[in-house]
Amino acid sequence: MARILLIEDDRELGKLLLGILERAGHEVRLAENGVRGLVALRENPPDLVVLDLGLPDLTGDEILGRIRASQDLPILVLTATRDLERKVHLLREGADDYLEKPFHPEELLARIEALLRRHAAGKQLAVGALVLDLEAGRARLGEAEVALSPRELAIAALLARRPGRVYSKEEILNAVWEEAAPRSNALEVHLAKLRAKLGEIGAGGYLRTVRGRGYALLEPRE
Ligand code: CA
Repeated sequence: MARILLIEDDRELGKLLLGILERAGHEVRLAENGVRGLVALRENPPDLVVLDLGLPDLTGDEILGRIRASQDLPILVLTATRDLERKVHLLREGADDYLEKPFHPEELLARIEALLRRHAAGKQLAVGALVLDLEAGRARLGEAEVALSPRELAIAALLARRPGRVYSKEEILNAVWEEAAPRSNALEVHLAKLRAKLGEIGAGGYLRTVRGRGYALLEPRE
């Protein structure tokens, strides 16, 4: 179940889509113009927005820009255009997907669900049974969880994106410290803390030190 904000001024289409999405188990708010859509977005943040580009008050681009300025959520745009350049522009401006009118409502539902899955997956990284929740800043193994500092999370995420790949200290420093890399042993300190925290949830064995080469995250063998 997701909370969906549907911004659509065509009443018949709006009601039709509302019914289909609700029957699929989603909680839907229908806004009939752009201003109401932006108010609903602020007062009751949804998990996903379906945005009709042809609204009576604000342009779709304005709304897209305002949503993107404040929120990271999937946006599916409904458009009447068959113009390729326009579609490319919309995707660049932050739409995650689009559907041309007229469309089959079942296709809208399928695309919404694919977007929600993709969005949820993008917030988590898994190495075997160890899960990093990038949004919550936590590492999880089974039922056990521990909070990571932003730096610890960044190091763990770098290693987790390619499990088993050994990263040298220099590679980690370059990837994780945007400002000039620290001269002291800051990296070792963060790695030691990360190892201790993973140890707290029984995942200490995931962080490997490869002597003389660097560090990797890998599921330990039994
Ligand atoms: Ca319209």
